[in-house]
Amino acid sequence: MIYFIGAGPGAVDLITVRGKTLLEQADVVIYAGSLVNPELLNVTKKECTVYDSAGMTLEEVLAVMVPATRAGKLVVRLHTGDPSIYGAIREQMDLLDAEGLYYEVVPGVSSFFGAAASLKKEYTLPDISQTVIITRMEGRTPVPPKEDIALLASHQATMAIFLSTGMLENLSTKLMEGGYAADTPAAIVYKATWPDEKQFRCTVGTLARTAKENHITKTALILVGRFLGNDFERSKLYDPAFTHEFREGNDPLPSWTEDLK
Ligand code: SAH
Repeated sequence: MIYFIGAGPGAVDLITVRGKTLLEQADVVIYAGSLVNPELLNVTKKECTVYDSAGMTLEEVLAVMVPATRAGKLVVRLHTGDPSIYGAIREQMDLLDAEGLYYEVVPGVSSFFGAAASLKKEYTLPDISQTVIITRMEGRTPVPPKEDIALLASHQATMAIFLSTGMLENLSTKLMEGGYAADTPAAIVYKATWPDEKQFRCTVGTLARTAKENHITKTALILVGRFLGNDFERSKLYDPAFTHEFREGNDPLPSWTEDLK
C-alpha cells in the first residue's frame, strides 16, 4: 500500500496524527528532501529504507514504489505542506493507476496556512477579501495565460504566491499592472513554522528590495493584500445583532457591546 502524505510546512509537530502514525509504520519512505523537515524521519522504524526524492526522477521514484508495494511493504511518499498544492502527485498517481496499484492521500498543513498562523493574520476579512488566490509566477513551469498575475491581481483578492521568490521584481510589476497600488501591504514569509523562520512586512512596491536586503532567495511565500492591514469590518457571524441558525440576535444591541466596536 502507498500513502502520499502531507508533511506540513516545516515544524515537525505540524504533520497530522494520521500522517505520523503511517510514517511510524512505513517500510519505505520517499521524502522530498529539498523542503521536508528531515527530523520527521526520526519516527520511522530502524529497518525502514529512506530515499530523498530531490535527486530522483519520476521514473526512479516509481521504480522504488512499485516493487516495494508488490512485495507487501508499506510505502510512504512524503511531500511538503499539502500534497495537492504544487506537489506533482498527479503524475505519480496516474502511473500507479496504470500499474493497478492502490494508494491513498493524507492531507497536510500547507505552507500558506503555516504562514498565516506565523503572521497571525486571517486571509478572509469582511469587506476586504473573501477570496484567496493561490498562484505562482511562470518559471520553467508554464502558467496558463488566463492566469497571468496581472489578470489575477485585478480582483484585489488576497494572494498567496508560491515558487516565485527569485522573480520579485517582475512579480511587483505584474501586481501593479493588475491594479494593486505600490503601497498595498505585502509579506515575505521564509520557512514558515521552521525554527529559522523569518517574516518581513513590506509593500507590493518593495518586495524585491526587501528580499534582497534580507538575502531571501527561496523557500518563501509572498502574501499580498489588504488583509495584512487594519481597515476591516468585524464579522457578521459574531455580531450580537445578527441572527443565524444557532443564535438569536439582539436588536437594539445591549449597551456593553459598544465596548466591542
Ligand atoms: N505543497 C507545498 C508547496 C510546495 S511548492 C505546500 O502545500 O506548502 C514549494 C514552494 O512552497 C516554495 O517555493 C515556497 O514558495 C513554498 N513553501 C513551502 N514550504 C514553505 C515554508 N515553510 N515557508 C514558506 N514557503 C514555503
